[in-house]
Amino acid sequence: MADQTTIVSCTCGVRYERREVALPIKDVGCFDCDECGTRLEIWSGRKVPAFKRLPSEEREAKRA
Ligand SMILES: [Zn+2]
Repeated sequence: MADQTTIVSCTCGVRYERREVALPIKDVGCFDCDECGTRLEIWSGRKVPAFKRLPSEEREAKRA
């Protein structure tokens, strides 16, 4: 099983590593940014994304 990992960036600058995982049963859910609460994804099905927050390396580059 090949996992495809992508990087998702929120508008607030936080980045997440996104990986798709296959579940044995159907799942409905959503993922909100830890930092600002923006909804990044809604899913419904047996293939769901798993998010892992990445450490911010460009904190000072954040725009006001
Ligand atoms: Zn955010």
